[in-house]
Amino acid sequence: SALLYIVATPIGNLEDMTFRAVRMLKEVALIAAEDTRHSRKLLAHYGITTPLTSYFDHNQTLKGERILATLRDGKSVALISDAGTPCISDPGYHLVRDALAEGIRVVPLPGACAAVTALSAAGLPTDSFHFAGFPPAREGKRRSFLAALAGVRATLVLYEAPHRLAATLADIAAVLGNRQLAVARELTKLYEEFLHGTAHTLLEQVRDGRERGEVVILIAPGDGMSAAPEGPAPEERLRTLLAQGHSVK
Ligand code: SAM
Repeated sequence: SALLYIVATPIGNLEDMTFRAVRMLKEVALIAAEDTRHSRKLLAHYGITTPLTSYFDHNQTLKGERILATLRDGKSVALISDAGTPCISDPGYHLVRDALAEGIRVVPLPGACAAVTALSAAGLPTDSFHFAGFPPAREGKRRSFLAALAGVRATLVLYEAPHRLAATLADIAAVLGNRQLAVARELTKLYEEFLHGTAHTLLEQVRDGRERGEVVILIAPGDGMSAAPEGPAPEERLRTLLAQGHSVK
């Protein structure tokens, strides 16, 4: 019977496409893409001529129904997004959930994902990481979002829009304090680079609001306590930790 394939596509470098992804995209009856104009370039590059339909956040109820109807009809469908793995800060979750609810088999085809790609070369702990997606765009909400992550004992992985990088680094400095950070920029592309430092030192390298290029922000795990300026000073936090029985190495 028909299958729903969730197919990862490159995050910049067209060569990061798997042989299996190319074959499946040729074999399915329909490809559902976030932006058909964007995906047409990738498909043309690989000689894929499968019919395309759009599936994005604002039409997902209607389009999801049509895609499910195609699957019920016995025709397999592949879901792709503009870049990377569908459903990861991209549309797809509702479609996958609804397909599973109808007993349709959902098959993931692994490939590029900016979060994991960044993590693999950032030099921050990888044993445990917490992917938190995009922080809210407004400062107040962004600061509460970061404060809620302060106690997570794992490397934090965030996506951010380039023009908000400076503002978000400033909020990380204010809310999470002096942790080690990495910013992965333009992964797999010509100007790929990793910046390392604290939020403070990285801010000096980032031109306010005029940044270009896609970025992933990675934040080393903290000691589990918030470093908000209105919170306790470092010496006082240390005293509290010692009082709680933590030892200083
Ligand atoms: N589904 C995608 C994935 O699997 O990574 C993520 C899509 S999300 C809408 C786009 C965000 O992913 C960007 O704002 C950026 O934070 C990150 N991103 C995507 N491609 C990137 C790249 N080549 N370099 C750095 N970050 C990237």
